[in-house]
Amino acid sequence: MNILDNIRKTAEKTGSQLAFHSRDGSITYHELWEQSGRLAAWLNDHADKDRRPVPVYGHKSPLMLVCFLACTRSGRAYCPLDINMPPERINEIIQTVGNRFILATRPLMTDQAEVVGPDEIRRILQCDVQIEETASNKPEDVHYIIFTSGSTGKPKGVRITTGNLNAYLDWSRTLVGNKSGVFLNQAPFSFDLSVMDLYTGLATGSAIYAADGDLQQDVPKLMSYLKKGSLQYWVSTPSFADVCLSDPSFNSDSFPSLESFLFCGETLTKRTAGNLAKRFPDAEIINTYGPTECTVCVTSVRITDELMADDRPLPIGRAKPGTEFYIMKEDGTFAGVGEPGELIITGDTVSPGYFRNPEKTAEVFVEIEPNGENEKIYAYKTGDSGYMEADGMLYYTGRIDHQIKLHGYRIELGDIESNLLKISEITGTAVIPEKNEDGIVKYLAAFVVPSAESGMTDCYANRKKIRTELKKMIPSYMVPKKICFINEMPLTANGKINRKRLEELL
Ligand code: AMP
Repeated sequence: MNILDNIRKTAEKTGSQLAFHSRDGSITYHELWEQSGRLAAWLNDHADKDRRPVPVYGHKSPLMLVCFLACTRSGRAYCPLDINMPPERINEIIQTVGNRFILATRPLMTDQAEVVGPDEIRRILQCDVQIEETASNKPEDVHYIIFTSGSTGKPKGVRITTGNLNAYLDWSRTLVGNKSGVFLNQAPFSFDLSVMDLYTGLATGSAIYAADGDLQQDVPKLMSYLKKGSLQYWVSTPSFADVCLSDPSFNSDSFPSLESFLFCGETLTKRTAGNLAKRFPDAEIINTYGPTECTVCVTSVRITDELMADDRPLPIGRAKPGTEFYIMKEDGTFAGVGEPGELIITGDTVSPGYFRNPEKTAEVFVEIEPNGENEKIYAYKTGDSGYMEADGMLYYTGRIDHQIKLHGYRIELGDIESNLLKISEITGTAVIPEKNEDGIVKYLAAFVVPSAESGMTDCYANRKKIRTELKKMIPSYMVPKKICFINEMPLTANGKINRKRLEELL
């Protein structure tokens, strides 16, 4: 697959087909191709000749796509920056990228680079000068750089090459049967999950229907907007689906064309999958897994009744073709079937490393020797723990850095969370370790969201009830000392559970 060729062909054959829609406007494939060609010509005339990556700032608007494509067509990588990112982080990234200018599709104040703002971009798009198409991008060219949030310290820029992206799309389009349709875009473009809907959408000649951040804060408004979208393919974090499930009208009557739910980015719980299956009996629910460093997702599994009935949490799926997983034990040897360890990913979507950050790159992009010293395989160490069954089915058990020690016991926070969710009154949960000044865990706190139907309220009897239920399922040293009731989970701008915010609530 060659994504640029695909977009061009759609623009030539069915140019009037809608490519993208948001509350900020719409754009067809023909317009996208024309406008990106003009901006690409301008970039070739005005930008540096050494083709530094171009930061592109904004939110969910057609202009963002025009900028991305213009960078690609002029042989430059782009780096998406979203309006929800804090200004210091934006400045830091602009500084790291080191370009003298930034394309800003929304007004932006920064002293780190010359801002080519929305009015200027629109003026450029009026000029009828098209880029002279040169040789197409090479597989090793960097297509985009997404800065990962990085729980601590400086954000890291993940370089994804054109080869990585095309390899990913070869597979991701099969998740939707290689058909065109309408994709939901929930994630901001600065979050790798957006690559799933944006590029799988563009690769299949589909329309992308974007829900902006403001809409996501207002469920009734969000619902009425989404209902008008004729969505076929839902791409979001599971937490975002939970937000939508809080509205009773989120069901197949209101979304008759919805065929598939594609999830990535965090654990898909049986609770969420079960609630969706009830509301959308004919839609398929697919769990996928992967980090930004491996483009987007690299595994998938369709959630079946059998998997729902299994005692264990839902699996993350089997590796896509072109990707292989290894499970590395703490002592550096490789785990056997069912044995836990760190998930190590190899294959055609693994990034060549972080942008201008050789130290961090060396820490996690490594060469492994699973078949002996004579064969070295380039791999990414995910920092996630899990295990693999004999049939290749993978199970995620949590972040290695969410493994904590409490009074000498090693505890996987995800393990407590998945057991809490077995309690019927609880719809959402996150377990947070409370640490002292030396970083030693003092106790565990479980934040729980009771379901509306349960009528469960915050009182001693209910906290006791939860503890009693948990003790039936996990050892008592794992039962959180503190149970905190909250009405809804705080989410990050990317739509994942905001653990930092929960820590602050303790
Ligand atoms: P990001 O690079 O922001 O996409 O985050 C990647 C991380 O999200 C992974 O390393 C996992 O810890 C987590 N993650 C992604 N997909 C899943 C999934 N299906 N289930 C559980 N965790 C996931």
